[in-house]
Amino acid sequence: MSGKLRKCMMLCCPAKGEMPNEIYEEAIAGLNKLLSEKGGLEVAAAEKIKQLTAELGGAAGKGFDPIERIRTGFEIFKKEKYEKDSDLYEKLKTGQSPKFLVFACSDSRVCPSHILNFQPGEAFMVRNIANMVPPYDPSKYSGVGAAIEYAVLHLKVENILVIGHSCCGGIKGLMSIPDDGATQSDFIEDWVKIGKAAKAKVQAERGDLDFNAQCAHLEKEAVNISLGNLLTYQFVRQAVVNKTLSLKGGHYDFVKGSFELWNLDYNLSPSSMV
Ligand SMILES: [Zn+2]
Repeated sequence: MSGKLRKCMMLCCPAKGEMPNEIYEEAIAGLNKLLSEKGGLEVAAAEKIKQLTAELGGAAGKGFDPIERIRTGFEIFKKEKYEKDSDLYEKLKTGQSPKFLVFACSDSRVCPSHILNFQPGEAFMVRNIANMVPPYDPSKYSGVGAAIEYAVLHLKVENILVIGHSCCGGIKGLMSIPDDGATQSDFIEDWVKIGKAAKAKVQAERGDLDFNAQCAHLEKEAVNISLGNLLTYQFVRQAVVNKTLSLKGGHYDFVKGSFELWNLDYNLSPSSMV
């Protein structure tokens, strides 16, 4: 193992508890040297080091060890799930036949496996900022298109569920884009603009409400835009017409602890509410 790598391993894999400061200092000095040696990257290196130092400092302050967290997380999963549900995991070795394709936000509070208790093999998932489904366009957004195509044509899922959620930062971002459409981010605003028709609807119908209340409506209307966009994919449309596929919208409110579910033809009257 090289000296540099060993330093990195020491940094990443300490014994339980906080690491001594000299290890950080040594690692950062090594990182500084390594990055500077690349040449012409001094400014970028300085920024990177500043960022890493802040992260390391933060990690040390909280006593959080990501490697330990991942290791113990997998140990618990293996002991409590993988080895206990051996029938399920044995079956999954031969393939998957999920009934659902689920779109959910990347937000760490809204994992569908937790909130809907999906077990391994039950739901094929796409998670992105503000749980958006873009319209069919093979020249863009191919990751989402590939997931839909695979789920519908190969896995033959019977349901596509798009789940919005309360306090969605992506939806707040969409609502905050100025009327002239000017954006300040590299990706985020351009992405959430997929829901701009929903924003226009909310502004027209709910413009009297305050910002947060409009966002709450937009969280649901954006789901409806995504359900409509799903129909721009020919294989989705065909499966819906054939009645082998159903499209559903959902909204998880983690403030109230509730979940609304509606069908494609949502008209402000949810078909069920939990
Ligand atoms: Zn979100």
